[in-house]
Amino acid sequence: MTEESLVTTAQRLQPQLLDHFMNLINEQRLAHAYLFNGADGTGRQQIAQVIAMRLFCQNVTAEGLPCGQCAECRRIMAGDHPDVVTVVPDGQRIKVDQVRYLKSEFTKSAVEGNQKIFIVDQVERMTTGAANSLLKFIEEPVGNTVALLLTANKNLILPTILSRTQIVDFIRVAPSALAEALATAGVIPSQRYLLSTLTESVQAAKALTAEDWLKNAQVSVGQWFTAVCAGDERAFVRVQTELLPLATNRDLQGTILDMIVQAWHDVLRQQNATLADDQLAFPQVAKLSRQLAQRLSVDRLVAIMTLTLETRSQLAGNMNFQGILEALTLQILAQIPR
Ligand SMILES: [Zn+2]
Repeated sequence: MTEESLVTTAQRLQPQLLDHFMNLINEQRLAHAYLFNGADGTGRQQIAQVIAMRLFCQNVTAEGLPCGQCAECRRIMAGDHPDVVTVVPDGQRIKVDQVRYLKSEFTKSAVEGNQKIFIVDQVERMTTGAANSLLKFIEEPVGNTVALLLTANKNLILPTILSRTQIVDFIRVAPSALAEALATAGVIPSQRYLLSTLTESVQAAKALTAEDWLKNAQVSVGQWFTAVCAGDERAFVRVQTELLPLATNRDLQGTILDMIVQAWHDVLRQQNATLADDQLAFPQVAKLSRQLAQRLSVDRLVAIMTLTLETRSQLAGNMNFQGILEALTLQILAQIPR
């Protein structure tokens, strides 16, 4: 058989997230509700399935991974395991009766006390009624259950669901063809990787580089990042003096937060790999991010990125940008060991 196994695919697409979740399960610290936010091709379904396999596998490998061979693993891969309940949209929408089915399964598991895992893909397609039903059982977890909600676009998820789940962002690991297209379009090497994470097209990338916006933002976010990592409270001041003047509209505010996520993602990516400067979003602070990759745990990095993404979702509401960015800065400062 030459086909790549599910575990191998998950490992290739999201090596750090896979490690992170396998560790959580090992330490019995898995939360009861997650939102996996990732575009198609980032491995959100594969990671969800491997988590389910790991929870039920009868023959976990020495590396702490599900074997992929035992009866439990096979049934999960075939979509035929009684304790792994999967819901996908029926047509365009996830309907109330599908959530009702989930709910009855949840209730059963409370009675039986068995481990049960619920996987709802394209959760953004829930009708409001379905979302409200789902909320009820996220709020009142029963028995030994884990809910994995999957979406390609977190911006379409109701804030009430966002606030009750742990959000995990799936960032594309493979270097995209966009980076090459940007090179052809004349974008300088130090901006290519960052732009490929922020935009989907050369045209959108060009708009960001106009009038040196991206260049200035890269410098300012880099300086903010440096101050935060030093535990320097002046990071807080930089929000007002440097980041705010760049974030002149909601889109650019979102872009600044996306850039902050990428600064931490640089660190995370360097924990398992040696990356050249032009493979980093912030090459000008490469030395710092390499040091941090040795100093900070995956858990802490994921926590910081999660905080940033939660802040990103607050933008959808009518929150004041300065307020949320200052709050985020303080929260991250608290995460950095002195
Ligand atoms: Zn197995």
